[in-house]
Amino acid sequence: MKKFDYLIVGSGLFGATFAYRATKSGKKCLVIDKRPQLGGNVYCEKIEGINVHKYGAHIFHTSNKYVWDFVNSFVEFNRYTNSPIANYKGKLYNLPFNMNTFYQMWGVTTPAEAKAKIEEQKAEALAALNGREPTNLEEQALVLVGKDIFEKLIKEYTEKQWGRDCKNLPAFIINRLPVRMAFDNNYFNDKYQGIPIGGYNKLIEGLLEGVDCKMETDFFKEYKDSWRNDAEKLVYSGAIDEYFDYKYGKLDWRSVYFKTNILDCSNYQGNAVVNYTSRDYSYTRIIEHKHFEMFGSAVYDCPKTVVSEEYPVEYKEGMEPYYPVNNEKNNALADKYRLLALQEKNVIFGGRLGLYQYFDMAPIIEYVLNMKM
Ligand code: FAD
Ligand code: UDP
Repeated sequence: MKKFDYLIVGSGLFGATFAYRATKSGKKCLVIDKRPQLGGNVYCEKIEGINVHKYGAHIFHTSNKYVWDFVNSFVEFNRYTNSPIANYKGKLYNLPFNMNTFYQMWGVTTPAEAKAKIEEQKAEALAALNGREPTNLEEQALVLVGKDIFEKLIKEYTEKQWGRDCKNLPAFIINRLPVRMAFDNNYFNDKYQGIPIGGYNKLIEGLLEGVDCKMETDFFKEYKDSWRNDAEKLVYSGAIDEYFDYKYGKLDWRSVYFKTNILDCSNYQGNAVVNYTSRDYSYTRIIEHKHFEMFGSAVYDCPKTVVSEEYPVEYKEGMEPYYPVNNEKNNALADKYRLLALQEKNVIFGGRLGLYQYFDMAPIIEYVLNMKM
C-alpha cells in the first residue's frame, strides 16, 4: 500500500482542482510546487492592502454555470467587468472593438455608419485575399476591423506581445477579441465574470483545504526517480518537454517581465487595465491592481496604489513560461511530446504547461471537473 494515490505536480488551478476532486472521492493526495507559494499563476501577493496579481492580471470569466457555481462555492466573486482602455500616442480608445472605439476612431455615431466604414477599410485586404481565407494574424485582423484599427490598436501591440511580425502569427490569436456593433466595453462575451472577493488565494485555499502540500519542492530534484515508491499515479502540470528531458528539443514560450511599483497616490490611471498599443513604450500594458477589487470611494480609502508594467520577453531559462508559442514548429514538437505522454504509464499530464496549450482559468477547471477520477 503506497502513501498516496496521487502525487500532484503543480498547485495551479489544474493541480488544485484535481486535488480537490480526488480528495473528495476518498483518495490521498500530495501536491508539490517548486514555488514558495500555492496557486500557480493566480497567486496574489498583498501589498499596501491591495491584492497584487503577481504572475499577471487574472479575470475570471465563463458561460458555464456549473463552473461558476463551483468557484463561487469556495469564495464569492465580485462584479468586476473587464473594460481595458487602449492608449495610442496619447489618444484613448475603448476596447474591445465596439461602437465607442469606432466613434473615437472615425467619429461614426450609428452601427450602420460603423459597418460602412469597416467595409471600406476592409476592401483592400479582401481584394488581396482574392477569395481565400486569412492565414495569419495580419490578414485576419485586416478583414475583421480594417486598416486603421489594425495599425493603431493591433499591429504594434501584438508585435510587442509576441516578438514576431503579425504576418508570422496564427490568425486565431486575434479572434479572442470580440467586435461589437454596440456601445459595450465589456471585454468578454461570457455570462459570468468577476474577481474573487478577497483574492484568488481564497479559491486556492478552499480547493486545497485538508490536502497535503509541499512548497519549494521541485519534482525533478526530489521525486522524478522515486515517486513510484510513494504514489500510485502522478498528475503532472509542469512543462511537458522538461518531463522528457527535452529529448526532442525545447518548446518555445513567451514570458513577461512585470515591473511593479507602489505609488503614493490613490488612483493612478482610473482603470485596472490600460494597453499601450504603440511601439513608443516597450511595455504592452499597465495594470493598476486595486481596481479589480475596489470600487467607488473604496479606491480613495486606500491611500496608495500598486501598478505593474508588463514587458513581454522571449523565454529563457530561469524565467516563467507563460504563453505557448503555437506556430507550426512548436505544434509539431509538442505533438511528439504528447505522443510520448500517452505512453507514460500511470502519469496524467494536464494544465497549460503539461499540455502546451493556452487555457483560460474556467476551461482548466471545466477540464478537471470532466475528468474520470
Ligand atoms: P499554472 O497556474 O502555471 O500552475 C502550474 C504550477 O506548476 C506552477 O505553480 C509551477 O510552479 C508548478 N510547477 C511547474 N513545474 C514544476 C516542477 N518541476 N516541480 C514542482 N512544481 C512545478 N485566464 C483567465 O481565465 N483570465 C485571465 O485574465 C488570465 N490572465 C492570464 C495572464 C497571464 C500572464 C497568463 C500567463 C495566464 C493568464 N490566464 C488567464 C490563464 C491562467 O493563468 C491559466 O488558465 C491557469 O493558470 C492554468 O493553471 P495551471 O494549473 O495549468 O498552470
Ligand atoms: N490585442 C491587440 N491589442 C490590444 C489587446 C490585444 O492587438 O490592445 C491582441 C494581441 O495580439 C493579443 C490578442 O489580441 O495577443 C489577445 O489579447 P488578450 O487581451 O485576450 O490577451 P492576454 O494578453 O490577456 O492573454
